[in-house]
Amino acid sequence: MIKKISTLLILVLTAGCLASCSKPSIIDSKISINQKPEQYYSSFKQNEAGVAKFLETPYGMYNLGSDKYIYYSEKGNMKYVKLCSKPNCNHKSKDCNAYTDSYQIGYYKDKIYYTSDSILNCMEMDGSNHLRVKTLYDSPDANFGYFHNGYFYYVITRGGTVGSPSNVDNNLYRVKIDDNSKPEIIITDDIILDIHMFIVLGNTIYLYIYNYNDWGCYLYSYSTKTEILTKLTDYWSGFGSSFFDEDYGYCYRPNEGIYKYNVARNEITLEKAIKFNNHGLCAVKFCPDYIYIIHHTSEDRFTNYSQNQVLYIYDWYYNLIDSIVFDKVPDGEYGGYLTYSDDYIIFSSDYHHVPDYYIDKSEIGTDNLMFHKIED
Ligand SMILES: [Zn+2]
Repeated sequence: MIKKISTLLILVLTAGCLASCSKPSIIDSKISINQKPEQYYSSFKQNEAGVAKFLETPYGMYNLGSDKYIYYSEKGNMKYVKLCSKPNCNHKSKDCNAYTDSYQIGYYKDKIYYTSDSILNCMEMDGSNHLRVKTLYDSPDANFGYFHNGYFYYVITRGGTVGSPSNVDNNLYRVKIDDNSKPEIIITDDIILDIHMFIVLGNTIYLYIYNYNDWGCYLYSYSTKTEILTKLTDYWSGFGSSFFDEDYGYCYRPNEGIYKYNVARNEITLEKAIKFNNHGLCAVKFCPDYIYIIHHTSEDRFTNYSQNQVLYIYDWYYNLIDSIVFDKVPDGEYGGYLTYSDDYIIFSSDYHHVPDYYIDKSEIGTDNLMFHKIED
């Protein structure tokens, strides 16, 4: 009997070892420290440079590159490597585990999801086992959207991007990503043809709609409970400088400042006037701990504006805490702010390549703020 048990034990141990040994060395398991509720990782992050290009997960940070490969970095400030441990893979072909043919990635229940046009796919956290989950629609049209708490929300863009005059589908859809159910239409309205971005928060969806007559966007809200669509203001900005939480919306309008929308009162107020002598282009990121204003100082938007940029860091009382020049962008390239984590702000000197600089947030306000290089 004892021999039987010990044989069984050895078998179990061996099986356990084989299972763990077959995992890639870059991701062994969930990172055990500072784990947050699952919804933190599966919710869409509004304050990044792009839409659904980064995933902060219990396993580490994932970045969908402009080459459509997924790159992995354990903490976001460490070297980004292609998410593939296939033997004999040169990581340059389309059958590399890291390759997605996608414009957006999402995290849900220990899997990475992505779409290749109308096809929804998933993979394991180590990049292995790519699976086709379902087909969303029959046309070869592109779509725009993102993953949020177990759903993929999207609009179909025949013209290739949002705002294209060739778009013909005036629906906003969502589809559950981990079962066989069909997509459902949430909103049908011609404003969807001019949609710039939408934010899903509980039973409310905020829609940023292009205003082609003026700078900025119209702001609408839609209640999935009452199915009522309401125009809130024609004085809002786009994805790069707007943010919503349950109680408030925030946006930055160039050379005016930060506006705040009070959801309960349905009221918009100018919270903080901010003006620059040379305005150039600004992006404003409303993050949980700070507000980042990235000021591209070149007035001429047809020259490379990202050569001259300053990061201003405000607290949520709108006090300027710190600022730093980002001068790492080579001639002819575009780069700058990408995303943030609890501890770091991530930058890239060239958006065609993996992130290569970070700010350590513990240095904010210490007279010692600097860009650190992400080393090999
Ligand atoms: Zn590979």
